[in-house]
Order: sequence, then C-alpha cells, then structure tokens
Amino acid sequence: MTSSDGTLLSVRGLKKHFPVGTGFLTRNKSMLKAVDGVDFDIEPGKTYGLVGESGCGKTTTAKMILLLEEPTDGTFSFEGNDALTMDRDGRKNYKSKVQAVFQDPWASLNPRMRVGGIIGEPLEVNSTLTKQEIKTRVGGLLEEVGLAAYQSNLFPHEFSGGQRQRIGVARSLALNPSLIVLDEPVSALDVSIRAQIMNLLEDLQDEHNLTYLLIAHHLATVRYMCDKVGVMYLGRLVEEADTEELFDNPLHPYTRALMSAALPSHPDIEREEIILTGEVPSPVNPPEGCHFHPRCPSRFEPCADAEPVEIEPTPGHRVVCHLY
Ligand code: SF4
Repeated sequence: MTSSDGTLLSVRGLKKHFPVGTGFLTRNKSMLKAVDGVDFDIEPGKTYGLVGESGCGKTTTAKMILLLEEPTDGTFSFEGNDALTMDRDGRKNYKSKVQAVFQDPWASLNPRMRVGGIIGEPLEVNSTLTKQEIKTRVGGLLEEVGLAAYQSNLFPHEFSGGQRQRIGVARSLALNPSLIVLDEPVSALDVSIRAQIMNLLEDLQDEHNLTYLLIAHHLATVRYMCDKVGVMYLGRLVEEADTEELFDNPLHPYTRALMSAALPSHPDIEREEIILTGEVPSPVNPPEGCHFHPRCPSRFEPCADAEPVEIEPTPGHRVVCHLY
C-alpha cells in the first residue's frame, strides 16, 4: 500500500533535540540538535540514501523511523498514515512492516541463541505459525540469503562477518516487511565481501519489491545502491537529488567536498581535491548563518549572518545554499 501521492514513507520537519547539561540541578540546559527539521519522501521499491559525516544526524533519523527514538517535533507517515499517532495495533503492524539491518553483525545477533532462534524470534512473537512452520520458514529464509537450512542449528560465532550479516538480513525479512532501514549495512565488513552483501540486498529488493532507507557514509555504497540521495550536515538536509544527478552535478559545497574526499570511480578521472578546513561544529552551538560557513571554500558575504533557504534549481534537485 502507498499514500495517494505514491510515497511509502513521507518525513516532514522531523527534529530530535537532546538536552545536555551537567546534571538535573543545572538550570541552563543546552539542546543538542541531532536532527533539526528534515523532509524527504521514499517511493515504494526504491532506495533512498542518507549520507553525511558521522554525527550529522542520519542514524538518529533512522532511529526515529524505527520508533526507537521519539521525535521532538515533526512527523512522518507510512502508507499514508501518521506513524506517530498510531494506536497499539497500528504500531504493531508498523513494527512488522518496517525492519532494520544494523552495521555490526557481531553486536546485533544474540551470541547465546542459535541462528534458527534469532531468525524465528519475530515470527514467534508476531505470527500464529506453528513451531514446525517457523522452522520451515527459517530454513527458506537462510537459503534466500545464500546460507543453508541446516545452519539454523549453529551459533553466530560459527559464521564469518559476511555470513552474520546475511543472518541479519534473513531476520529482517521474516515478517515480510515493506521498508528496511539499512544502517551502514556493509561498512563493518571486509571490502572484498561488501559487494556480495550489496548484490544480495539488491536481488532481495527486486524479488520482494522492498523499499530501503540506506544510512551510509561511503559514497561508493550510496552511488551503487540508491535511487535518490539526501546529504545531511549538522542535523539538516543540505541537498537532495536523484543519485545520477547528485553525482554528476553536485551543487552544495559540502556535497562537492564529500565527493572530492572520496576515491574517484575510475583511475582516469581527475578530481580537484577540496580539503575541508576545520572540525565539524558542535550541534549544541551551531554557527550562525549557514551552518557550513566556517568550513566552506565558497563562502561569501551573506553566509555568516543569513541562513540560506531551500530552493529547487532544477526539478527534483533541492539545495540549501546562498550560491543558488
Ligand atoms: Fe557555503 Fe555560503 Fe553556500 Fe553555506 S550558503 S554552503 S557558506 S556558499
């Protein structure tokens, strides 16, 4: 099911601010604005990438969508329904339709449980399947991710890192989800097996018409997997476009800097290196004006005082920068 405008997930003005201070007696608590007003839509069957340096708010955004963090403000709708005002049944339905695969397959699998129990757990809690039916389903899921049904009797430590991530993917598929949040799904893996997991995720997407929200800081992963990309800086989206358009024609100086810092896709491509000066500012005290101005190689007169507003220089390409 999708909303009337064809989106599966629609995020509007989403914010998450955390109080920071030195204890409950501190009167003047500051707010850490981890996510500070984010809007994006994901169409069914597509992959949307959120990219940015560590601490930019992409993982906090994912946690809110997984209902692991409560937003400070803003909302998001799933299949046209407001996800934050759902009743108990709606919430249960949402949690089965929206699943996650996390970065670290070591940390995300219970080491004391056999793999069959790990993959079958969501089915035991959320379905009326018998023990035998769950066993059969788990065997099928293992085969679907490139493992063997008999391996359900093994423990996570008996698998390699790539195989453990396959187990995480199998578990995420157990309840036939529509949307899977992929939080850095390959960044903890050896470079040699990243492509295998990315290919597996793509094959499963085609087979089950899955929609992915991919959280990543590797631009190569984003370019390979995503249909559309949002670039985050200090809790805000600073640019968004279809993947090809974003990589061919990056507009925001931050996006350009990220791309120049990444390896070129072909050794013959020459790229002028832009060195980003300065640390990422604290989200507790973000700079006035454009938050990126202390590090921006293109900053000019209005940037330190006036916050830029979002514009769409070409249809579907959004950017927040005074240059446009
Ligand atoms: Fe750079 Fe100014 Fe654009 Fe900010 S608004 S990214 S400082 S040019």
